[in-house]
Parts: sequence; C-alpha cells; structure tokens
Amino acid sequence: MTKPEPELTKWIDIRPWYYEKLAGTVIGNLKKNNMDGMYIPTAREARKKIFEMIEKEVPEGGVISWGGSVTLINLGILFDLQKAKKWKCINPFKDIITPNEIHVARHWMLTEGALDKSIKNWREGLQANLYLTSTNAITLKGTLVNSDGYGNRIAAMTFGPKKVYVVTGCNKIVRDLEEAFVRVRNVVAPQLVRMMGGEPKSKEEEAWYPPCSRLGRCGGEPKELRNCGHKNRACGMTTIIDQPHIPDRIFVIFIGEDLGF
Ligand code: SF4
Repeated sequence: MTKPEPELTKWIDIRPWYYEKLAGTVIGNLKKNNMDGMYIPTAREARKKIFEMIEKEVPEGGVISWGGSVTLINLGILFDLQKAKKWKCINPFKDIITPNEIHVARHWMLTEGALDKSIKNWREGLQANLYLTSTNAITLKGTLVNSDGYGNRIAAMTFGPKKVYVVTGCNKIVRDLEEAFVRVRNVVAPQLVRMMGGEPKSKEEEAWYPPCSRLGRCGGEPKELRNCGHKNRACGMTTIIDQPHIPDRIFVIFIGEDLGF
C-alpha cells in the first residue's frame, strides 16, 4: 500500500498566523507615532473592505489618486475605483502606460511631452482627498521607507493629500532601518526597474538602465547607502516616515499575503 502524500498546505497555512502577529506589532507602534493601521487576512477581503472604507472616507465627486504600485494593480482596487465613477480618479500613469504595455512603462524613454503631462498629473494628485500607495518597506517600529526616481509618490506620502492609505503585503515588514534599505535596493529596485524597462533590446538601451536591473541586486552598497552612480538611479530619493505631526493621516492596511515586491 502506498503512503498518502503529506498535506503540505497544513504547514504552509501557518503564515497567516505569523503575519497577523507581525502586523499587530507594527500597528501598535504606528499608533504611538500619530499613524494607524489594520490587518486584513486576504487580498480578496482587502479589495472589498478598502473599497467600503473609501466610500466612507471620500465624498462623491472627491479626488482620489495613487502612486505606482504592483500591489494596488494586482489587488484590483484601482480598477474598482475608476469603474465606480463616483470620484475623480487621477491616474498618474495614464500618459506613460498604454493598455498593452501596463508593466513596461519605460519611464526613461518617455515619448515627447509625456513627462510634462505626467508631472501635471502628479501635481494634481497632491491635492487629492485620498492617496493610495504601497510601501517599499516598513519596519517593526512602524517606520515607512520608500525610494522614488521622480519623487511623486514619496511627496504625496509626506504631505498634500488629506488622507493616505498605505496598502501592503506583510512580506514588506522588516526588522529595522538597515534591513529596510537593503530591501529597497536589493529586492524592490531590481524587480521594479526590470519590470518597467523590460528586456533591453540593444547595448544603447541597456545603458539606460541602472545596474540592479541586470544584476538582480543593487550595484552599490545598500547598507552603507553607497549608490551605483548611474544617471537613471531608481532610488535617488528616499523618505523615512516615522512620526508625522498630522495625526492619523497615514493609515497602513496590512494584508496577510505576499503582495508586490
Ligand atoms: S543604487 Fe543603482 S543599482 Fe542600486 S538600487 Fe539604486 S539604482 Fe539600482
């Protein structure tokens, strides 16, 4: 008689428990620092719950905008918000991402005038009632660490929109600031740059992309904040948000799954 296959899912299933505990620790620390948060076990539940929260948060006709985020795209919430037609949704990437090229933005190869239009959108987004974003990393103490090339997303996180929802998978929780910088440069940047740029088609094109997009890790030294020196650095601006003065403006929604990168 053959032995039955082991029930692997039984062991894998422990992760939601772990993620809930981890998120609980971070939320406790966010509350001490003028921010707040909540935990939602699955992406499916999160999509519904976040939409309901937005219905309460933003009056009809109000303005909603967002930052670049694989988490938000994959969650489907951006699609739901635009489809609802209740709010003015400022899609910050409508001039640089075509429907056929959703994951290949090629920020550094923008067509004529697209950057100017995008900057206009990004500025308009700073006046939003609600701004949605994810985070590159969040520490156990509740410190949000984010790097941008243009700074539109990190600007909105720090000031401008009345309320900010940070939606993140618990895979982005890190121990401390040092680990956050390593995550931003060794995990986030290589995948982000590669995703936006796609496979370089020539030596000339390849020169546009910073080393992380070829190496799969930072070409500098993240722990020492030493950069690669490339003209198109993806991490040229970094924010550390750990104690904003405006209470409860930043609300972090932790989802008990691995989302984004
Ligand atoms: S310093 Fe350069 S190689 Fe390192 S993550 Fe930033 S852009 Fe990539």
